[in-house]
Amino acid sequence: MNKIMYSSTNGHPELLDFKEALLRGQAPDKGLYVPLEIPQIPKEELARFPGMEYPEIALSVMRPYLGYLIPKDDLVAILRDAYDFPVPIEKVYDEKYVLRLDKGPTFSFKDFAARLMGRLMQYFLKQEGRSMVILTATSGDTGSAVAHAFYGLDNIKVVVLFPEKEVTGRQRKQMTTLGRNVTVFAVDGKFDDCQAMVKQAFVDPDFAGLNLSSANSINIGRLIPQSIYYFYAWSRVAAPDREVVFSVPCGNFGNVMAGLLAMRMGLPVHKFVVATNENDEFPRFMETGDYRPISPSVKCISNAMNVGHPSNLARVFWLYGGSMDEAGRVVRAPEIEAMRRDIFAKSVTDAETRETISEAYNRFDALLEPHGAVGWAGLARYLKEVEDWSPSVSLETADPAKFPEEVVRAVGLEPPVPAGLSRLDGMGERFDLIAGEYGFFKEKLSELFRG
Ligand SMILES: *Cc1c(COP(=O)(O)O)cnc(C)c1O
Repeated sequence: MNKIMYSSTNGHPELLDFKEALLRGQAPDKGLYVPLEIPQIPKEELARFPGMEYPEIALSVMRPYLGYLIPKDDLVAILRDAYDFPVPIEKVYDEKYVLRLDKGPTFSFKDFAARLMGRLMQYFLKQEGRSMVILTATSGDTGSAVAHAFYGLDNIKVVVLFPEKEVTGRQRKQMTTLGRNVTVFAVDGKFDDCQAMVKQAFVDPDFAGLNLSSANSINIGRLIPQSIYYFYAWSRVAAPDREVVFSVPCGNFGNVMAGLLAMRMGLPVHKFVVATNENDEFPRFMETGDYRPISPSVKCISNAMNVGHPSNLARVFWLYGGSMDEAGRVVRAPEIEAMRRDIFAKSVTDAETRETISEAYNRFDALLEPHGAVGWAGLARYLKEVEDWSPSVSLETADPAKFPEEVVRAVGLEPPVPAGLSRLDGMGERFDLIAGEYGFFKEKLSELFRG
């Protein structure tokens, strides 16, 4: 099987295989790992997807990346274990669908990435007798998905940072009620501050011995598994020979990057709608060709998407022949016309998000939360500009019960709370509150790993 190597978007000359790129997380030059070659899924194989279950499709998508590292039977077992929850595709009207990616253990689409990444890391660490510290910044849902994915593993410790005022009570509880190998810090600052602190820890020589790894969407091992559900959705609504439109609510752009990767692997996609909240740096770039990060990021109700400079844009630029460094400076312009052919980008205000939740429910009986509503609003904008496009799939990335205030406000109804969430309400929490400066965090982290 072909061995695909990975390089840094910042041009570091070192090439790594999947295992090392996964365990390393970020490249030494602060770039993100990208595959030097994108594997193709042959048409004959795609044609079989409609008859296959989710873990089987996952095997077809992941095997070209992992086949030389993991024997097929082991990979099958890992995928079955990771993807043991339903992935409903809800028809809203005609051929317009919502893909519900919110049925995993933390009711966030981030479970899809984190569960497979966690299992792959454990597989490789066990093989090598190594241990590791996962350090992750979250704007809402990453932290809980990652913490759950690694919870209870002996050779892995997890440290999560979240912006104290930007996550909901339930999002917070999903992280702070775990304990054991999971340590949580609330930061008096924004998501961007959390992410900056994490990035600084990674390059801090004092932590070189800790074997730090990132589980953010910057990890290539989190990115690639997200391509799977695009194939799955296509197989259910458009196979065997029609293209599909996907609308993706975007924050750090890992989700849509995985979709673009799926398209390059051969998935028949007509267009990606990139829907952002009021953090509109990317839609503006698509319009003007001029990229300007937004700092500080705008606080919107779709809080997991409050990102003023998405890390994964470096990968999106790479995919289109461009280059962007970690600060958002465009080193080489991408082929923007090619990007415009593949991507329709729109920013959605909070007011429009709220109207969308209300309209989707009242007109179509579809219950959305703020992130999914941004996606659905983006799709509506796209459908207004083209004659008609079918089939279209909008991604719902979290369970509405995680955002009860906004749902009640928009539709006057308490979203049904899944048992796995309501259970948290009475549980005790453990976390430290720290200032949003690296020095404080460094002290805490040193303390944690001193003994
Ligand atoms: C993380 C997150 C997003 C944004 O996904 P990206 O891959 O960062 O673009 C959207 N919705 C929810 C609920 C999320 O948790």
